[in-house]
Amino acid sequence: MDPRGALRRHFGFDAFRPGQEEAVRAALEGRDALVVMPTGAGKSLCYQLPALEREDLTIVVSPLVSLMQDQVESLRRIAPDAVALLNSQQSMAENRDVLQRAAAGRLKLLYVAPERFASRWFLDHVQRAQLGLFVVDEAHCVSQWGHDFRPDYFRLADAARYLRARAIMALTATATPRVADDVVARLGLAEPVRVTTGFDRPNLSFAVVGCRSREDKQRRIATVLHDLESRPAIVYAGTRNGCEELAKSLGRELGLDVAVYHAGLERERRAAVQRAFMAGDTPIVVATNAFGMGVDKADVRTVVHATVPQSIEQFYQEAGRAGRDGRPARCLLFSEQRDKGLHTFFIERAAVEDAAFGAVARRLVRQAAENGRYDVELGLLADAAICDRDAARAIVGHLSRAGVVQPAPSPPDRAIGRLVGAWDRRALLTCRTSAGEGQRIRWRQYRAIWGFVEQRRCRRAALLRHFGDRSQPHTDVDVPCCDVCDPAIAPGPAPKRHDDDIDEAILALIAIADPALQRPQIAEILRGSRSQTVMRHAYDGLPQYGAFSQMRSDQVLQRVDMLVARGVLRSRRGTLGRA
Ligand code: ADP
Ligand code: MG
Repeated sequence: MDPRGALRRHFGFDAFRPGQEEAVRAALEGRDALVVMPTGAGKSLCYQLPALEREDLTIVVSPLVSLMQDQVESLRRIAPDAVALLNSQQSMAENRDVLQRAAAGRLKLLYVAPERFASRWFLDHVQRAQLGLFVVDEAHCVSQWGHDFRPDYFRLADAARYLRARAIMALTATATPRVADDVVARLGLAEPVRVTTGFDRPNLSFAVVGCRSREDKQRRIATVLHDLESRPAIVYAGTRNGCEELAKSLGRELGLDVAVYHAGLERERRAAVQRAFMAGDTPIVVATNAFGMGVDKADVRTVVHATVPQSIEQFYQEAGRAGRDGRPARCLLFSEQRDKGLHTFFIERAAVEDAAFGAVARRLVRQAAENGRYDVELGLLADAAICDRDAARAIVGHLSRAGVVQPAPSPPDRAIGRLVGAWDRRALLTCRTSAGEGQRIRWRQYRAIWGFVEQRRCRRAALLRHFGDRSQPHTDVDVPCCDVCDPAIAPGPAPKRHDDDIDEAILALIAIADPALQRPQIAEILRGSRSQTVMRHAYDGLPQYGAFSQMRSDQVLQRVDMLVARGVLRSRRGTLGRA
């Protein structure tokens, strides 16, 4: 078979990207594979294409329902009846129908969440299907060294074997050599084909900007985003409150609506923000890390980190959303000494006291029915352990590793599962070890990201080294590398504010100019241009002529537009006057 023909036929793409063809061939031949490519490189195609070409069923395990939904929707345009997903938000009847179609050989791709493999009912149905590829996307979740470890991923190797999959394909964007080896071991990959494209993104420039205070930081970010060429932009802020506050201050400084995206907003609201950003109607989104997976906008020109993220993996994954179209883009990380204290605080808070394991275990025992099944609100467990919901979910994960419970697919705010072992001293010891590992990993990530922020060597080289990419950083001659190699690219201190002055100057100019001015002429006059119009009407004699020569034309015009938007100015047949 001809992979290139299939690529054109199914996806309409002319050529494979680096690594894709190798991965596709491995999957078509039924060989195990480990695919390591940076975010946006096109990992999904590595299994989607062979799945569509193969006769048997491909199962795709992915940690995020929203991610799966996006993929299923776009695949349905290509192969309407061949793709489905199982999902705890779907009704039992729908899920049963999907499984029946899979068992009858009528599906090519089935997307499932990892918790699903705890269900006997599910396994027995799928066992009837002829299983080809078993795909583990975001495979770093298998590894305890990965930044996003999920206990549910532990069962996958057993499941793949039980279901007699022909081959396993693991894909990730965040494989340090240690994670990669761990993924291979935990999934039991047999002599896998290893596909690795380099981690370098030559069209991205990196800068770390140290800030003195929060105000200093906000002003600097505003200065960057003021520049139209820095948009569309994603600004990552650490917390929901941080997002709201920063979006307000940026909106004020820039005179436009800056959108906010975080998990605390209603589902519809989030979808609307994402849609508007994708469509290009919203130039700037301030978001938590909830905004990301599934956001595949090619022309993002800037990714700003307004706080230092928890790990280099997280940083590079988020920063990597810039410049997917291959054109130059910037990744700016604004750091403040205060962030360090916050990191320490969160890591220390994540430490689980022995009492908390017991409290959650006892609550589950109390809530469980006679047959050992439980279905409780996460909030109840959090109350029992005196912690937040995320921590409570993590504790359930540790209890699962200790063999006390077996979690089942559950909506985000509930814990559903079955008691499978006693809560005793041995279980406590396992929980303690499991949680201790988590802490050690968090501290290691903390040292790595702060090492990156505080060192004074090439940022790009440091990132590549972190990901075990030994290649020489290759930089485009047209794209500055980083703030260390090329200090000019770091945004400088915020300039003195001119907004009030320039607004005044625009209004004064409009009041005295004769004949009345059109929009572009305002910029020409204030910037001291010697254009024909300026010379013909002797505008160069006006007191405001050349007073803002340091501003760019689009910056001046933006202030004009803002005065119009605020109703201070009005445009009549192209000329501007006081409203
Ligand atoms: P990853 O999972 O590695 O982050 P995705 O699989 O989500 O990346 O792909 C990112 C984008 O690249 C998608 O929009 C996809 O359609 C596009 N893409 C993938 N392969 C190709 C290709 N060969 N040619 C053009 N576009 C591609
Ligand atoms: Mg992906």
